[in-house]
Amino acid sequence: MAIGIPAGSPVAVVGAGTMGAGIAQVAATAGHPVFLFDSIDGAVDKALSDLRLRMDRSVERGRRTPEEAEQILEMIVGCGWLAECAPAALVIEAIIENLEIKQKVLGEIEKLAADDAIIATNTSSLSVTAIAATLAKPERFVGMHFFNPAPAMPLVEIVSGAATDMEVARAAAATVKAWGKEPVHCASTPGFIVNRVTRPFYGEGLRLAAEGTADPATIDAILTGSGGFRMGPFTLMDLVGLDVNLAVSKSVFAQSFHDQRFAPHVLQQSMVDAGRLGRKSGEGFFEYGDEKPRAVPQTLAPQPAPGNVEAHGDLGWAAGLIPRLVAAGVEVDSVAAGGPGHLIFAGLHLVPTDGRTATQLAADQVFGSDNVIVFDLVHDWDRVSHIGIALADQGDSGRVATVAGLFQAIGCEVSRVDDTHGMVVMRTVAQLASVAADTVTAGVAHAADIDTAMRLGASYPSGPLEWTDRIGAGTVASVLGNIRSGYGEDRYRVPTLISRCAATNRPIREGGDRG
Ligand code: NAD
Repeated sequence: MAIGIPAGSPVAVVGAGTMGAGIAQVAATAGHPVFLFDSIDGAVDKALSDLRLRMDRSVERGRRTPEEAEQILEMIVGCGWLAECAPAALVIEAIIENLEIKQKVLGEIEKLAADDAIIATNTSSLSVTAIAATLAKPERFVGMHFFNPAPAMPLVEIVSGAATDMEVARAAAATVKAWGKEPVHCASTPGFIVNRVTRPFYGEGLRLAAEGTADPATIDAILTGSGGFRMGPFTLMDLVGLDVNLAVSKSVFAQSFHDQRFAPHVLQQSMVDAGRLGRKSGEGFFEYGDEKPRAVPQTLAPQPAPGNVEAHGDLGWAAGLIPRLVAAGVEVDSVAAGGPGHLIFAGLHLVPTDGRTATQLAADQVFGSDNVIVFDLVHDWDRVSHIGIALADQGDSGRVATVAGLFQAIGCEVSRVDDTHGMVVMRTVAQLASVAADTVTAGVAHAADIDTAMRLGASYPSGPLEWTDRIGAGTVASVLGNIRSGYGEDRYRVPTLISRCAATNRPIREGGDRG
């Protein structure tokens, strides 16, 4: 097992802003004396007085004793000079996000630090390899990407630059593990794991809204209610700030030489141009303020539940719907059949999305009917609370309400969305899986670390690769293939890892990962 820096050895944090102050608190709580330095007069004092307030609050709430709070505060020493950080076994840089300034400061740190000290950066968007390029000993330099707020967020991405010694990365990981955090390893790549793999969460949401598939409130409701995501992309962009989100999107897109899966959307840019930056400007995709009405998703009116339905063939990921229907008092007759699994009732064919539109399924007469309705991917049938459905253009729109009754019977709100390839949740999850799979193939991170990072760093209900294994690599491959042929865009290509696991019926998490 890798060994981190010794317990009780000094840690230095350079930069006493939001992240530096949080990291100092984490290290001090773990029992390390901490040297905190900032180049701006008064910044360290402010960080320390803010920390005292946070400690007082945590004592009031009973989270720690007054003695524990005092102990943590006593561990942190404000420094007037960078040279005072010299005794540290680990120096974490958390200054302004600027390559030249970081290189200059880290060059100074390198000169004064002990030979065996680990030097780390908390950069969130710069290349660890590029920052290290001007260091004399880049092998002892590593990214330690804490998330905001550092004391509360469990994930730390341990980022290896091209020259980072693996032992140094392992020691950094063991150190944060001893601090109660969950480390994941990755190679320096644009966005590291979380900010890279999550891009399609925003990108697909923006495209769906811009193409009129549904409005932002409805897309968010489907992604939370069906997909199990904690927040939808529009609520999240409003929270983070559209300008901040656009800057990260542009940076990852440019640094990955315009991989279309990372493409920012013109809608993002126009929102920023209009000054609609989200919560902080009072208006983004939604409006904020006491007087402002809350945006509500478009839902269908309540309808009676159907008495009985026929379930034909293998419903795959949608099989969990059947016990829910039975528990809700709907009689289900199961019919063994080949072809895509589907439900039939009231002359309607209700089909779990496979990336084809309902219109295409009707045009191809896959079920010998024009009345085809597709429904979206559900993360957990025991918890689903909102689902999207789409009717074929050839279908009878009067019948949509009947389907609403079926999902309402299991306690779901139902939204009718425009008939697009892969709907809302399935398309988003397939694209997250696509980026995650290529991140494995590129040797940037292991599948298990990607899943952990997305669960802990982005609060996903499942990691995208474990989710792929659950619904089947074959399903994800055909969904992507169908979306790709619908759009004719390379953005929806099937990653090699997914197509190989689909061909061999092998889970990505067990063997598909080159380990
Ligand atoms: P911040 O603006 O709150 O703090 C930066 C601090 O660095 C300031 O106090 C500033 O005075 C100080 N500083 C600037 N130049 C310095 C120098 N030459 N020497 C010493 N101190 C200097 O910024 P932040 O949000 O804490 O971000 C710091 C780093 O952490 C950045 O690299 C950022 O990308 C990364 N990061 C930020 C977040 C986040 O959500 N804020 C999350 C993860 C990582």
